[in-house]
Amino acid sequence: MNVVYVASEVFPFFKTGGLADVMYSLPRKMSRIGHDVSVIMPKYSQISQIYTRKMEHVISVEFSGKIFNLYKIVEGYVIYYFVENKELFDRQQVYGCEDEDIQFSMFCEVVLKFLRKMQLKADIIHCNDWQTGLLPFFLKKRYSITDEFFVNMKTIFTIHNLMYQGKFSKISLHQLGYDINEDCANFLKIGMEYANVVTTVSKTYAEEIRYPYFSEGLEEITTSKKIYGVLNGIDVIYFNPERNSSIYVNYNLYTRKDKYKNKRFLQQELKLPESVETPIISMITRLVEGKGMDLIVYSIEELLKDPVQIVILGSGDNKYEEFFWNLEKKYPSKLRVKLGYDSVLANKIYAGSDMFLMPSRYEPCGLSQMIAMKFGTIPIVRETGGLKDTVSSYNKYSGEGNGFTFTNFNADDMLYTIRRAERYYFNEKEIWDKLIERNMKLDFSWIRSAREYEKLYWIVRGDKVLKSVPAVETKSE
Ligand code: ADP
Repeated sequence: MNVVYVASEVFPFFKTGGLADVMYSLPRKMSRIGHDVSVIMPKYSQISQIYTRKMEHVISVEFSGKIFNLYKIVEGYVIYYFVENKELFDRQQVYGCEDEDIQFSMFCEVVLKFLRKMQLKADIIHCNDWQTGLLPFFLKKRYSITDEFFVNMKTIFTIHNLMYQGKFSKISLHQLGYDINEDCANFLKIGMEYANVVTTVSKTYAEEIRYPYFSEGLEEITTSKKIYGVLNGIDVIYFNPERNSSIYVNYNLYTRKDKYKNKRFLQQELKLPESVETPIISMITRLVEGKGMDLIVYSIEELLKDPVQIVILGSGDNKYEEFFWNLEKKYPSKLRVKLGYDSVLANKIYAGSDMFLMPSRYEPCGLSQMIAMKFGTIPIVRETGGLKDTVSSYNKYSGEGNGFTFTNFNADDMLYTIRRAERYYFNEKEIWDKLIERNMKLDFSWIRSAREYEKLYWIVRGDKVLKSVPAVETKSE
């Protein structure tokens, strides 16, 4: 199959969030399992010279009185295309410009023009988030009606974040000669309406967004359209305690006792009392309401009465930063708070802690819990979105489960669940070790996600689900 990914950010060229990581890993895996893959993004002035120097001019088109140039970089078997127009994409900032509706509507339309001019007959155009929402609309309303070349192209639209919808007046549509039967243009909603298939980043989140609590006002469409959930993966080569170069002592499934050496070193580095017996409960997170910070604020002093150490690495809202900053002074030997973003320390914390706490109010996918699990750190999570899909509560009767979970967004339920985990940590060493082993064995590789997307691509094309060549994971994603 010929698959074209379209997105507003792709790592390592430009990244503000998880979308860029997905656009780094998924296309590479898709090419690894045998498909022809290209990725198209705008050529922002923020892209480093390291990459712009390598770019080769491919073609140009004139559209709406502007010249657009297309550049490319080939890496492995993936071709990365960059759409250049200085007036639209050479800006102080990438997102949040006043005319971002014009920027991204033109980007979407010009992508179709480039495909035509290059004769790049995509079987699937995989669009991501609101910036690419108009592409399926343009394709259906104009290109596939007027030009045989586009007739069989199918679109997939993936929602990475339902919060950002790209709601604008209809000016950008009118300028390009389109209209819709609504008062304003919600790019995300249009993408959902016109794409052949809509996906989001976990099965549970796909279900949750049908309800007003999660739907951000879009329940009309989230209930009327089938939304598939495909869990993101993580870079299982990088987040591998056996090879990760940031942690103190490498370990694997068989040498997992060395995890406790990491714990000692972490306690030393964070100036916490050195004690292998004391469980370390950690959080690595944005300090924002959606991550369940109010539950922590409400119950942390009660939790600190337990024989535990708590480590928090994060940055975010002032009110939470200040709260934790002050609280640390009160409990210097039990609580360590590091404000800021530090990926090296993050890996050390994943490796050195016993439990990883994620009490999110909502969580489309969540990567941190998967990383923690690969490091053998037991997750304690609220059952929402991707957390529900990756963590199941330990069941003492069946022996099943890989962590500890609670359902209601309630601080007492969270505290009860943490204490349940503590009881197993202190009193059931064999079970605890079994949980570590179970988590370290879990498969969160991108290959698994790529296979799921591949099935959807076959389905949307109306083909039978075919088996492609098995892929062997050898290199870092
Ligand atoms: P979200 O994307 O909603 O913030 P995820 O769990 O999906 O949450 O991903 C967060 C990623 O960012 C994880 O890889 C986590 O380790 C990392 N991270 C979050 N906060 C920090 C921080 N302060 N320092 C280092 N890494 C962080």
